[in-house]
Amino acid sequence: MADLAIEHGKDDSSRLEISNKTIAERFIELYWQQSSPYKTSKANESGVLFQNNGVQASIVKSIDAFRQGNRFNSPSSAKGSKEYERLVATVAATVAKQPINYLQNVGGETLPFLYERNSSSITLKNGVSYCLRRFQPLIQQLARSRWADFIKRNTNNTPILGEKDDLNSFLFETSRQTLALVCRGLKEAYGNKCFYCNKASPKLDVDHFIPFSLYPRDLMHNFVLACPNCNRSKSDALAAKIYLDRWVNLLSKHSNEILNIGEKAGIQANQETSLAIAKWAYGACSRGEISTWIKPNQYEKLKGETCVHTFTFPR
Ligand SMILES: [Zn+2]
Repeated sequence: MADLAIEHGKDDSSRLEISNKTIAERFIELYWQQSSPYKTSKANESGVLFQNNGVQASIVKSIDAFRQGNRFNSPSSAKGSKEYERLVATVAATVAKQPINYLQNVGGETLPFLYERNSSSITLKNGVSYCLRRFQPLIQQLARSRWADFIKRNTNNTPILGEKDDLNSFLFETSRQTLALVCRGLKEAYGNKCFYCNKASPKLDVDHFIPFSLYPRDLMHNFVLACPNCNRSKSDALAAKIYLDRWVNLLSKHSNEILNIGEKAGIQANQETSLAIAKWAYGACSRGEISTWIKPNQYEKLKGETCVHTFTFPR
């Protein structure tokens, strides 16, 4: 919900309507990877992790069945198909019956402090979307750590998890193979050079333009190539204004290529969404001055709001 507030909401206290369908699509994206088998070091002990204490969670079952019965290797490749629409409708019905229904349950009683609902959507109350945007990094961190804990504590998962400890990256990160596909595609589109220092480099990494630590969702438009030196030095910082302008320019010039790479690699690609996230990251709720990265050991203070107002969205 915090993600959706960032991607669809504004930096004011207005209400925000979100359809059950939109929530369902985000559920499918989050659970897609998790409905594939978690592979332990011993090949015969792999299985889909349990997300419920009793039987498997019904959303995981629906996605699992969809994946078994179709050729699609990602939600983004399945989008637009009839089968996918059916999956979204099934998940939307479960979402409405379960999480949306129980999220505002306080001490056994429904207290609609976050949203009002009707049969096909929820509407976040005044100020809720603003607070979700403001505190999204904290909310996301709490939710992810509780989620991983819940899965670890479920005794059904003990034989599946084994000794290996990469649960967090399995649950929430894009696989190395996928990133390798992204890297190859970006090299073809942008050439073998670093997005930041413009130097050719024999080794280039896939860098999250808006840092993954700030907004941990892999979207195709957010990927650029960086030499190891820039990548390491930029780390979790936001890039300086010159790079923000360069990035916006790059998106408008290469929009079709970016979509194609995303389709091949199975990474969601939506320019409007990526720009909304950038707008949030640079100006989110007027956090005042932010320190942005220029090059190793050089930073520039930026006033979030000024920065956002000056960048224009390509059409
Ligand atoms: Zn560089």
